[in-house]
This record gives sequence, C-alpha cells and structure tokens, in this order.
Amino acid sequence: MHDIKELLMDMRLIWGYARTSGVVNSKESIPNQCRTINTYADERNLVIQRIWIDEIKTGTNTNRDGYQHLLSMLEEGKVHLILVTFFDRLSRQAVELIRLLLHMQNNGIECIAISEDKQLSLMSLADIASVAIQAEEENKARAKRLYLSRMKSKNQGEHINAPPFGYTRDENRQLTVNPEEAKIVKCVFNSFHEGETIVAIQKKLVASYHEMRKWHSSTIQKMLIRRIYTGKKYRRITDEEKVTTYEKYSDQEHEAIITEEMFLKVASKVNLSLQKSFYTRKKRTKWIHTLKEVLTCPECLLIMRAKEHHYRCVNNDCNYVSIRKDSIEPVVFKYIKQSDKNATINSLNKQREFYTNELNNIEKEKEYIMKQFAINKLSEARFKEKLVILAQKSKKIKNTLDFDIYLQNQVPYGELIDNEMFEQLNKQLIRNKIKLTYKQENGVIIVKEL
Ligand SMILES: [Zn+2]
Repeated sequence: MHDIKELLMDMRLIWGYARTSGVVNSKESIPNQCRTINTYADERNLVIQRIWIDEIKTGTNTNRDGYQHLLSMLEEGKVHLILVTFFDRLSRQAVELIRLLLHMQNNGIECIAISEDKQLSLMSLADIASVAIQAEEENKARAKRLYLSRMKSKNQGEHINAPPFGYTRDENRQLTVNPEEAKIVKCVFNSFHEGETIVAIQKKLVASYHEMRKWHSSTIQKMLIRRIYTGKKYRRITDEEKVTTYEKYSDQEHEAIITEEMFLKVASKVNLSLQKSFYTRKKRTKWIHTLKEVLTCPECLLIMRAKEHHYRCVNNDCNYVSIRKDSIEPVVFKYIKQSDKNATINSLNKQREFYTNELNNIEKEKEYIMKQFAINKLSEARFKEKLVILAQKSKKIKNTLDFDIYLQNQVPYGELIDNEMFEQLNKQLIRNKIKLTYKQENGVIIVKEL
C-alpha cells in the first residue's frame, strides 16, 4: 500500500458509511465507527463529504436510508472513495456485498475497510468472495450466540431489561425491592382491588407523585398485569383472541411486592377488560362505503356521496335524494359477483408460484458458485460469466412477475365480497373504472353498469 497517499489525493468525492445492527456492541457503535473513519481521513488530509449512518434493528434488514443514499450516489457517479471500518458494515448478505464490491471495483471506485486494513482495488475476486461469505456467516453466528446467551441468562433468573417500577437491579442482574416505589405498586393494586377505576388511581398518583414519573392510565394498566410483582418470573402471552396466559420462564424467585392471590384477582379483571375492549374496538368499524366513487344517481347520473347509512345525490338541480347503504349494497354485490372470471385468475396464481420457485433456485445457485469460487474450484472468468447469466435469468423472471402481481391484484369480486374485504373491493372497482347505477321498480332494485 506504499502509494496510497498519492492515490487518495486524487480522490475528491469521499464518503463514509457506518452502521449498527441494534445489538449493543461497543466496537460496533456509531461513535466508534465515525471516530475511526474521521481519524483515518484526518491523518491523510482527506475531506469527507459526509458519513452516512444507519441504525437499524437487524443486520439483515436492507431497507436502510443511509445505505440507499450511498447507492444512489454511486449510481450518479458521485463517489470516488468509501471509507468503512469493516466491509461487513456495508452488508452482511454475501450476495449483496459481493455485487456491490464488484460493481465498485469494475467502475474504479475505491473502498477502504480501515480496521481490516483492506483496500478494494488491491483485492482479487477470491478475496472479495471470502470477505462476503465471512460477513454472512458471522452474522448468522452472532445472532445465534446472542439468542443463546439471552435465553441462558433469562433462565438463570437474570433480569435483562430495565427493572419494572417497584424494583431495582443489582450488579448480578437480580431484582431487589425499591421500598418507595413498592409502596406505590401496593397502593395501586389495593385501590383497584377495592373498586377504584384506573383513571381515578391515575389522578391520585399524578397529584401525589408527579415528580417520580409520568402517570398515564396505560402505565397503571400495565402495572396491574405484571406477574413479576408476585416474586416469580412469568411472561405474559396473549393469543389471537386476546386471551391472556402467563408462562413461567425461570424457577429463580425474587422478593414479592404483591401476593399471588391478590395478583390473580386483579390481573384477571384487567386482562378481561383488555380483551373486551379489543372486541368492541374491532366491532366499532369505521364506515366502509364499498360503492364510494362507483355509484351514480339514477336520475342525474352524477357520482353519489357516501355518508354513514346513505348514498346521497349532491346535485342541487336533481330531485333524487338518497338510497340506504344496506339496501343498495347487497344488490350490487349480487350483480358484480356475476362478472367474475375466476378461471384466468387461478391459472395466474399457479404461474406466479412457479416463477417464485425459479427465483429461489437462482439464489441458491448463486450461493453455490460463490462458494465454489471462494475455494478456488471455479476460475475468475467462469465465475463472472455465471454471475451474469444468473442475473439475466432472474431479471427476466422478475419482469414477468411484476406483470403477474399487477394482474394478481385482480382478486375475484366474489372472493372479496365473501371475505368482507370491502375496502379492497372499492379500490378494485375504481381501478377498473366501473360506474354503476340502478333503478327502483315496485320496490325492486335493478343494478346497471354505465
Ligand atoms: Zn341526482
């Protein structure tokens, strides 16, 4: 790397990129990465345009804004050099990383992984492939390690997250009672048990302990269903019907604040009311007017306005007033069900499945040849050639698929109606530019298409 200084002097458009995976790891922290990048640049008198930063929850998530910016800069030819601490900051997916690094190398763009002491322009294809594969394997291993160690410490009764109100956490991550807070927890449980409402309790707490923390009614609600206050370690699980069960995850116990008996009485009441409110919320549906922008006035043929129980003509010069939603919609549903052509849609679904499988196979093949190349079983020329062929194949399939997805949005009307997917039905009718009207003869509604 003797001529690197001179080489870098010519580079004017220099960008940094830093990323964390949301996992706490000081070596990976954003400030650490930025410091490394800035120090490297300062020592060589390089001016960095900007360090793009992504802080994300998982390492395999590719929807990263900073990264997307970097890619569009690359696309526009606004990049001479990218500085990272490790190549795996750019991506932890082998296929993606290899594609990116090859693209840069082919376009004369430099990338330096400072902490790895690696420089893209000096790397062979085999080096690139092995860096990429290593990044991916490490990602998998890291995720597994993290999961296992969390499980282990949880089973040992360690409290990993912030301690719940009422407790503090000692140096061994064990819960110990915080007397002042515990007094409040007890008071909350007792008050609720004696029939006070959550809102009343909240007001009391705000009046007496406002300096301690923010008291929302949800704070109190959550407190009343935490079984951890009984001194045992349970996790709360709710199923699809919002039915709550508690599952013990460790035999380790800590000091209780609330008795088991008191807890079960209180929590079952709160859990039940949570479950009920879930259903009423579900039932209290907002108005869905399936025929909005679709139904026209039988007399003036202008689009009718949908409001609550009615479709109304809003034309002041028209004598027609309105029709009830529940009288027109069922008749229309019957009418549009007849216009289904299910056969073509189903055959499209089958085709789609076939293409998706093909795409998966291509990805597998890509992984395979990359590994072959990394262990020198494939020549550089053959490797590149194969990558190009696979890329063309997948592009062709993707084009077909996009077309299919468009058609696939066309779900049979009958299916939408039977599954009560009225919003989607409305969108589909609008997209298909369908306008309907009707006439009423002796109390019978007859639907017509315009
Ligand atoms: Zn009208």
